[in-house]
Amino acid sequence: MQVSQYAASITPSATMAAGAKAKELKAQGINVFDFATGEPDFITPAHICAAATQAMKDGHTKYTPSSGLIELKQAVADYHRQWHGLDYAPASICVSSGAKHTIYSALLATLNPGDEVIIPTPYWVSYSELVKMAGAVPILVETTRKNRFLLKADQFRSAITPKTKMLMLNSPSNPTGSAYAKDELESIAKIIVDKNLICLSDEIYERLIYTDTPFVAMASFGKDVFDRTLTVNGVSKTYAMTGWRIGWTCGPANIIKAMDSIQGQQTSNPSSISQWAAIAALRGEQQCVEQMKVEFVKRRDYVCQRLNAIAHLSIEPPDGAFYAFFDVSAYFGKTFGNVLVKDSQTFCLALLEQGHVNTVQGSAFGAEGYARMSFATSMETIRGGLDALEAWLATGK
Ligand code: PMP
Ligand code: GLU
Repeated sequence: MQVSQYAASITPSATMAAGAKAKELKAQGINVFDFATGEPDFITPAHICAAATQAMKDGHTKYTPSSGLIELKQAVADYHRQWHGLDYAPASICVSSGAKHTIYSALLATLNPGDEVIIPTPYWVSYSELVKMAGAVPILVETTRKNRFLLKADQFRSAITPKTKMLMLNSPSNPTGSAYAKDELESIAKIIVDKNLICLSDEIYERLIYTDTPFVAMASFGKDVFDRTLTVNGVSKTYAMTGWRIGWTCGPANIIKAMDSIQGQQTSNPSSISQWAAIAALRGEQQCVEQMKVEFVKRRDYVCQRLNAIAHLSIEPPDGAFYAFFDVSAYFGKTFGNVLVKDSQTFCLALLEQGHVNTVQGSAFGAEGYARMSFATSMETIRGGLDALEAWLATGK
């Protein structure tokens, strides 16, 4: 049997693959310092787990509407109103099995074959593949470290062609942690309106910002932008709920209706139990988020201070999310053991196999020369892993 041309054209997720590789080594009894996958190490807060248990006891174990329970849509609507002043009716909300799934549903509901989607690099590994899986064409636009890895308005404008349909934006960003300030985002919003494009704004890390610059939602720049924005969010990162698989898109009712039809044929509905848990997350006490954030700040500061103290490595502290995206290119051309490190992929593989530190190569995010380290893991692992990284780097000749 042969796999389809479609399946053969899809690159597997590097973040998922790196996570699996570390698990393999751990199963062989090797102590790996694992910084590959971006998922909070915290256990889902107790009141959220209790709501799931209660949902099962109450018999909420059946199919739900394809785009989610009305109770959850109402909680999502209230959330966006309370946190961002955005007015989404339940008919403008589609709940999916995680943010990754909701992005795919949103792309399937809006893109036609050959449509171009502008994606600033570095970008989260799944964006380009999801666009391809929707039959459209990812157009990568390179941002620079000098510009804090943010897309500049003039860069955006010059990447637009008659085929451009959408911009995919992620603030704060995975993998760089960079977040757009209000004026930076507004200049992009103006172009979206001017050129009548769609903005898919992935705001999954909006609650995890560590600077004084407040988060701004793309859809908040007035009706014209609101009408052209698909706001993506979910509970995975904010509430340490990666395994529960609940994410959502807010946008124009006709697009949401199309997403509902797609999901009705595809997954039937997101897990009923997880939906009740997500309601508890959104409506319950928010102190748990603040507590996790305090830990993330400590880790961010420690990681950056340690990386900057290692010869030839450097990083500017990320504004948000939980990733350190650091320049490792000074080590290219060196030999570690009998391995010549020539790019980020050989760097990360040699670091894992020899130093037992698991990171993800920058090339998977469209940015050669870098490595990504998730600091959503314990301080103990971070300390040990950075010691191991430093020791391994010193063996390069
Ligand atoms: N968007 C970004 C930027 C992410 O980093 C992730 C991480 N998985 C997702 C979406 C998907 O989140 P989920 O686990 O809810 O599918
Ligand atoms: N988004 C996380 C990451 O980048 C989780 C894995 C994935 O969904 O890609 O590591």
